[in-house]
Amino acid sequence: RKLGYAIVGLGGYGLGVIIPQFKNCQHSKLVALVSGDPVKAKRVAAEYGVPERSIYDYKNFDSIKDNPDIDIVYVCLPVSMHAEYTIRAAAAGKHVMCEKPMAVSSAECEAMIAACKKAGKKLMIGYRCHFEAYNLEAVRRARAGEIGKLRYFRSEHGFTTGNPNAWRLKKAMSGGGSLMDIGIYALNAARYMTGEEPIAVYAKETTDRNDPRFREVEDMIEFQLEFPSGVIGSCMSMYSANQNHVLLVGDKGRIDMEPGTRYDGNKLWVGQDRSNPITPPPGPGATQWAGQLDHLSLCIINNKEPIVAGEEGLRDIRIIEAVYRSAREQKRIALV
Ligand code: NAD
Repeated sequence: RKLGYAIVGLGGYGLGVIIPQFKNCQHSKLVALVSGDPVKAKRVAAEYGVPERSIYDYKNFDSIKDNPDIDIVYVCLPVSMHAEYTIRAAAAGKHVMCEKPMAVSSAECEAMIAACKKAGKKLMIGYRCHFEAYNLEAVRRARAGEIGKLRYFRSEHGFTTGNPNAWRLKKAMSGGGSLMDIGIYALNAARYMTGEEPIAVYAKETTDRNDPRFREVEDMIEFQLEFPSGVIGSCMSMYSANQNHVLLVGDKGRIDMEPGTRYDGNKLWVGQDRSNPITPPPGPGATQWAGQLDHLSLCIINNKEPIVAGEEGLRDIRIIEAVYRSAREQKRIALV
């Protein structure tokens, strides 16, 4: 059985990445579109076989409740809109997939979780790396003890932003800078790679506020995570250079990924250095996105909780809030 997805937001990710992935899915299909641009929506609907009656805009969005073809709403909007459309989707009786970062604040994340709970609907966050073959293999090998006792985790994530007017660089729409958008991959990886929750953070921000791109949000932020086992996590996030790296150092070797969390082309080495490249077994889906989309469909069919439910998104946002606070107050922040 295939469950029906409505994609909200036909931008770079919703239209450019997610919509073409339904052809790789076994339990998910595209059935509706939500867009502020009727011409674009009509063109995309025609291309992907979505009936015109299943095109919605942001005003009539709530009438999705009367469309039985729609099981799941996938929110691919700027971060400040995630909470509103998740809560409206749940009120319309639909399950929700919401993009990362979950929302601009932990209070919004909590409201999203409560709304889905109240409606009896599932909420999953679009953490695609949990379905990506290289990341799954790295986690498996770390848990199997292949590098011995883990001592140190390191990850840098960044890309070069351009247009100073983009929503990502407007604090009200993004909730923050590189950390919210790309540094969250380093943070999330620190948690799923170590299998631990950090107990404290310490952060340092470096931003050229004269650069027109960084009037409202941070460029570089470096943060240290303390884990209960004594593992130190060291993460760096930036909007002024391209970098994508995940490294685990154990007392018997290293798990090294560069790039580690890209759409494709990820690489993995296990051992003392980079002499042993690993080709992982296939992930749960034909692609990481097929795995992700089908995971929520299967959770609904089998009444199970998604492995990256709303609570997982909330945990990252709570840590991100502590990272920002640490950078602002220049002190270690304990996480409770
Ligand atoms: P985008 O700017 O390309 O697309 C955003 C869409 O929202 C556009 O279609 C735009 O028209 C629409 N929109 C509606 N109201 C808007 C408003 N008031 N202001 C601006 N846009 C408005 O952005 P994107 O890159 O597609 O990002 C969308 C979401 O997807 C974000 O949460 C982002 O973090 C996430 N994302 C995730 C990944 C991933 O790998 N998981 C990759 C890219 C983006």
